[in-house]
Amino acid sequence: MEKIGEFLNNNNLTALKRSYMDACSNKEFVNFIQEINAPDQILMKYTSTLEEAMQEEINCKNCKNILTCKNKVEGFCYKPEVIDNTLQFSYVMCKKKKDQEEAQSYLKNIKYYQMSKDIINASFKDLYRDDTTRTPILKYMMKFMKDYSSGKKTKGLYLTGSFGSGKTYLIAALLNELAKKKVKCVVIYYPEFLRDLKASFKTDYDEKFNHAKKADLLLIDDIGAESVTNYSRDEVLSPILQFRMEEHLPTFFTSNLTLDELENHLSITSSGVDKVKARRILERVKQLSTPMELVSKNRRDW
Ligand code: ADP
Ligand code: MG
Repeated sequence: MEKIGEFLNNNNLTALKRSYMDACSNKEFVNFIQEINAPDQILMKYTSTLEEAMQEEINCKNCKNILTCKNKVEGFCYKPEVIDNTLQFSYVMCKKKKDQEEAQSYLKNIKYYQMSKDIINASFKDLYRDDTTRTPILKYMMKFMKDYSSGKKTKGLYLTGSFGSGKTYLIAALLNELAKKKVKCVVIYYPEFLRDLKASFKTDYDEKFNHAKKADLLLIDDIGAESVTNYSRDEVLSPILQFRMEEHLPTFFTSNLTLDELENHLSITSSGVDKVKARRILERVKQLSTPMELVSKNRRDW
């Protein structure tokens, strides 16, 4: 008489075989398993997992954009592989995901503090080309790229102009291009960076401060929009600029204020007016950057 265990095994085997045969009535499934190159005895133990893997492969074939990926793990395809006579499944990164990762790999060379996503993704290829007001700035940036890459001493830009004209975008696009060439860049949204630094006294204050101070290229975004204190002016801005000047580290600024307006802004704190300190900072800003103006329509859609 058949032992209970064997009976169950045989029964299971029949059920496995049956569902495998059912699946094989689908031509796509047959094509799919033919590529795996494994005997039916092995394949039939994994029918439902193979169907799942097949569906993922179909999703990949029909995929137009990684953002609409239908697979369980976005950007990965569940794939079978024969290893030591058994079938093993693993998640393999798809080409679109690989391309995306490669395109974003510059992000390890550039650190953004409190900046929006469109600025983080800014690139020359997506620049608006509909107005000529930015031509001199673009020319400057192209020359900067060339000079910086060939090791020449170069100045950053002090880009002033109206709100939403694209100042931050332009400089972020430049720094992103250079980050692709492995230049270490830091972009700080200045008013928020100050608040953040203050909140980090007991934690990573030095790390953040030095990061901005020592970056190969630094963008101090929206300088002049902060509320000035003796601390922010004399303990943060001043030593950062001093260090960068001594080390010839190009520094970029964007501001709604002209240089004269910035000087005035920096001279006033709640403890009084200090024109000498403000003047000294402005001297450093001028040493570090070339002033240019961007007059353009407001590009913000929010
Ligand atoms: P600003 O710093 O002068 O206030 P932004 O650089 O933040 O202005 O630009 C406003 C918005 O317009 C940004 O969010 C960005 O998406 C878009 N933008 C600005 N300039 C460009 C450009 N040259 N190409 C593409 N998008 C741009
Ligand atoms: Mg800006």
